[in-house]
Amino acid sequence: MAEAPTVASTVRDMRRAGAASEPVPAAVVQVWAQTLLTQLYGTQKPVRYECKPRHSTEPWRPAEMGEVTHYRRRKLELRALYLHPPAGKHKDHRWPAGSNGQGKCLDCGETEWLAGPDCRPFAPIRDHRSDTPFSLTWLIEPLEKLQYLTKHMNPLDRAKWRTETTYLIDRIKDHAKGSQP
Ligand SMILES: [Zn+2]
Repeated sequence: MAEAPTVASTVRDMRRAGAASEPVPAAVVQVWAQTLLTQLYGTQKPVRYECKPRHSTEPWRPAEMGEVTHYRRRKLELRALYLHPPAGKHKDHRWPAGSNGQGKCLDCGETEWLAGPDCRPFAPIRDHRSDTPFSLTWLIEPLEKLQYLTKHMNPLDRAKWRTETTYLIDRIKDHAKGSQP
C-alpha cells in the first residue's frame, strides 16, 4: 500500500470505478466510506462554533466555550464549522418565525424540511421602473392604498395616517403639475 487514501484519491477511484462500469467489491466500498467519513466528518478541529436559541429564527452567533459545553442546559442549538466545506462562505436560510420545520425560506423559497445547507436565492425579477428616472408620482398609488387601508386602524391611527397620506398625495400632485413642461 502506497500512501494513505485521501478524499481526492477516493473520489478519483470512485469515478474510475464508475467509468469502468464494473461491480466494486464490498471491501473497497468500505474503505472508500471509511476514508470519506474520517476525512470529512472525523476528528477535525472545528474552525469555530456557533449557536442560537433553540427553535428560534435568530441568526447564528459565535459560541463561547461555556455555551459549547452546556448548550443543552442553556437551550441552545450548536453547530461546528469546519474547513470542509469552507466556513463563512455560506448563507443561512431564513425561516419564518414559528414555522416548525414546515415553512419556506424567505429568501430562496426552499421548503425547510428538504432544504440543503446553503441558501441560494434567485436573482430578483427586474422591475421595469428601475430603467427610468425615479418619478414621485409612483408613490401616489401606494399612498392611496395606505389611505384606503386606514379603515382597519384604530380611530387615532386612522386620523393620523389619513391626514398624512392626504397631505403627501396632494403635495406630490402639486409637484407633478409644477414640473410639467
Ligand atoms: Zn434560503
